[in-house]
Amino acid sequence: MQPARRLRGLVQSDIRRMTRECERVGGINLGQGICDLPTPPLVERGAIDAIRARKSTYSFMEGTVELRTAVARKMARDNGLAVDAGTEVAITVGATGAYAATCMALLDPGDGILLLEPYYGYHLNTALLAGAEPQFLSLEAPRFRIEEPALRAALRPNTRAIVLCTPSNPTGHMLSRAEIEIVERVAREKDLLVITDEIYEYIRYDGREHVSPATVGKLRERTVTIGGVSKTFSITGWRIGWAVAPEPLARAIALAHDLFYVCAPTPFQHAAASGFDAPPSFFRELADGYARKREVCCSALEAAGMPPIVPEGAYYVLADVSRLGFPSALAAAMALLEKAKVATVPGTSFLRGAAGERFVRVCYAKEDDVLDEACRRIRAFRA
Ligand code: GLN
Repeated sequence: MQPARRLRGLVQSDIRRMTRECERVGGINLGQGICDLPTPPLVERGAIDAIRARKSTYSFMEGTVELRTAVARKMARDNGLAVDAGTEVAITVGATGAYAATCMALLDPGDGILLLEPYYGYHLNTALLAGAEPQFLSLEAPRFRIEEPALRAALRPNTRAIVLCTPSNPTGHMLSRAEIEIVERVAREKDLLVITDEIYEYIRYDGREHVSPATVGKLRERTVTIGGVSKTFSITGWRIGWAVAPEPLARAIALAHDLFYVCAPTPFQHAAASGFDAPPSFFRELADGYARKREVCCSALEAAGMPPIVPEGAYYVLADVSRLGFPSALAAAMALLEKAKVATVPGTSFLRGAAGERFVRVCYAKEDDVLDEACRRIRAFRA
């Protein structure tokens, strides 16, 4: 039996593949953004209490009232976005579930979906699975800024949507208000849907402000804001995320999500809701902790002759491996894995063609002692 045509050409992502390879050699995994830091006790307790209270059956298809209310409250408090918890929030199986349901609910087969390159592979492959036609706006390293003429030139007659990711996986670039204003102008003129993945919103550096695109100009009416708790509370396996959008869009997304998943895991929805009761210091310390890890990781890469593009947010760094003399990014990543026992992800997961061969992506969402050991190995690595 052949798999369906919609799956042809799609394979397991290199992100996941490198995790398997890493387990094979017993290495330290700086590849997949696993994020195995401790779960905040508040969130852990929230899950255990919910299970003990037998809150373990299906939730509404749009999610529990408690979590939708917590998301609406945090959107008002942290993102500056007024959201109706009753009609404008769909709770999903992770941010990935929100993105998949959005593609299925709001795009028709053959619709163009514009990705900013470097892109996150799931944004590409999930769109393909939904039958959309990926299109690309290549952003130039190391600043990765959106410029209006390039954005306009990347549009095609069938472009229906543009995907933003801020802070970005894999570049760490955070969209400035000026860049989002460009998107707003073009999206309004061309009647585009804007899908923005903000899963790394609380991980940002040097006092940078996170600007949610839906708060800029008139973008709110055409924007789906995707988020989740995987990274904020270090619970990537719990799979709790959301899509926030104007009512008709949110309803369509909740319906598509229901048909695939019925609902996100109910006890974990309760736990996630309690997590947003954490004091402001929790969110500050999260960002400060990652800022230290960013320094450790970037200075090791610099010392090893793999200059990093220092990220503004999120917990990944693109390292330039072109001077090491490997024939490909995969060869560089495999040498790092086999010799230094450190897994990374080849840049070809995030960039098409030769541009991808220049980089590997390094994830520093690791406990300090594990990251220190990985960085010691990176410094000692000789191609
Ligand atoms: N978002 C994480 C990454 O980029 C995990 C992706 C995944 O395993 N699907 O590594």
